[in-house]
Order: sequence, then C-alpha cells, then structure tokens
Amino acid sequence: MKTRYSLLALLFGCTALPAMADEVNVYSHRQPELIQPLLDAFTAETGIAVNVAFVDKGMVERLVAEGDRSPADLVLTVDVARLTQVVDAGVTQAVQSAVLTAAIPPQFRDAGNQWFGLTTRSRVVYASKERVKVGEVTTYEDLADPKWKGRICTRSGTNDYNIALLGAVIAHDGMEAATAWVTGLKANLARKPDGGDRDQVLAIAAGECDIAIGNTYYIGQMLADPEQKAAAETVNVVFPTFAKGGGSHMNISGVAMTKAAPNHDAALKLMEFLVSDEAQKIYAETNFEFPVKAGVPVSALVASWGAFTPDTLPLADVAAQRPAALKLMEDVDFDG
Ligand code: FE
Repeated sequence: MKTRYSLLALLFGCTALPAMADEVNVYSHRQPELIQPLLDAFTAETGIAVNVAFVDKGMVERLVAEGDRSPADLVLTVDVARLTQVVDAGVTQAVQSAVLTAAIPPQFRDAGNQWFGLTTRSRVVYASKERVKVGEVTTYEDLADPKWKGRICTRSGTNDYNIALLGAVIAHDGMEAATAWVTGLKANLARKPDGGDRDQVLAIAAGECDIAIGNTYYIGQMLADPEQKAAAETVNVVFPTFAKGGGSHMNISGVAMTKAAPNHDAALKLMEFLVSDEAQKIYAETNFEFPVKAGVPVSALVASWGAFTPDTLPLADVAAQRPAALKLMEDVDFDG
C-alpha cells in the first residue's frame, strides 16, 4: 500500500489526496495472512492505510506498558477470553456504533460495547469416517463415556479454545459435572495432548485415535492445503450439543478499540467495514469461519457439513468461567 500511496502522491500531489494520509494501526494476534485480504479490501475502498503488528504473546502487557502513547488503534484476536483480558486491563474504550450493534448478535459482543465478535466458529468433533459411525457421538458429555477409552486426541487442555469449551461445560452443567467430564475425557485420551487442532486430524488419519476436538475452520484450511487434504478427507465434522439443552459451543474472533486510539475515526471505519457484507464474505470464503452477521452465507464447503444449532450461551459467560476452567484443567493434570 505504501508504494501505491507514494505513486499516487507523486502523480497528484499530496494535498490533492488528504484522505490517503489516514491510517489505522492494528495489533493482531491473528495470523497476518488470514486478515490481509480484508485489510487490502478496506484500503482499496477507503484509501485508509492499515499497519499491522503481529503480536503473538504479551498483547495485554504491551498495551498496558504503552498506555496513552500506544500507537495501536485496534486489537484483533481470537477467543473471547483474550478479548475480555484486554478489556479488563483497562486499555480499551467503548465504541458506540449502530452499524456494529445491528450486525452482531448480542451474545457475540460486549454489553458495554468494549469488544465485538467479527466471526464465529464452533468447537466440534472430528470423527474418523472409517471407525466412527454417523450418530455415535452427539453430545460433548459423550466424550467422557468409557466407550471412547484410548480413542480421543486433543491439543493441550490449557489452550484457549479448550479452556473456553470447558468454561461452557461448567456454565451448562455445573462444576461437579464438569470435573467428572474433564476427568473422563482425560481418561479416554489416546495420547498426551500435543500440537494444534490440525495435528489431531493428522493423528486420526494415521490411526492413532478415532475422534478429536477441534475448531470447524481448520478442516476447511486443511482441505485447501494440498499437503493436508488427504488427512482432512478421513474425518467427518460432527456438531455436538450440550446434553441438558444447548447447541454447539461457539467462540469468536473479534476486535476492540484501544483507549489510546490515535486514529479513532479511521479505526471505527475499519471496525464497521469488518462487519460489512463484503468483509464477512471474505471471512467466510477464505478463512472458512462463520460470518457473525446474519444473512451472509457460509462457504459452500462449510454448508456441506450440514445445519447445526449454535449454543446461545452469551460468550461473556464463557469468558467469566475462564479462571475456574484453567484451574480445573490444572487440578486434573489434563496434559500430564
Ligand atoms: Fe485457530
């Protein structure tokens, strides 16, 4: 974008293009390649440049240390608890936007307008097409059934996605039932938790386990990757529900505006762009995530997995269970 700006500036003179001087600075915990197509579309449409710093670790600490002098306008991240951690650290600001509140269902945004979900994803079961019959696993609670002993794979219990899932189990079933569930799940593991969600699919393909827990979009990403396509084709995507009423566990990727936000107005434009039909379609087609905005279709591949019932538990309630879920994972020594 910088190159294009310079060329245009040379051609037309800087003063002719005041809008081109606008910019937004983003701290992103999301992989740069996942969000770049969206940011390029935004810049093409508005002339506002977007500078991205990929912040893998220490997002909260960095924003706190920078304080009012932070160059960051927006934080983009996955997992609701990561968003609430940034908010709880006091480094964000409320954003009043009719565009955002109209596009995003209430369970996927903060009641105080501090964070907003941009896409959703479900944490589902990947089931071996060969070794697991259709209909054999229907609930999250099923995963603790001894019939799965030695047959389940998952990534670390302290991973954000698994902590959020356990938080949802606690919210639905209570602490006692959640303790029994996670103990049963651990007892069913085929191997110690290891790797990411994609690695669990590879383990099923290799015959190490029969079912695994993972996020929906990874299957789409693996099918689009020539090296991982064959492995992904060995599994079905199963949308479990919570046994006592509830749908499939949902999580989000989302955005928050920093308190410092030196480019407030341009940042707000980017936030609103990210829930536009155009941006939501890019999220759906290139990342295989679910658009948060009603009426924007999922990709054809995601649609092929069939309809499912999303859980309606407000994600703020899931995030609130994070400390309890993390402690429970440690108490049962899930990764041990
Ligand atoms: Fe992910």
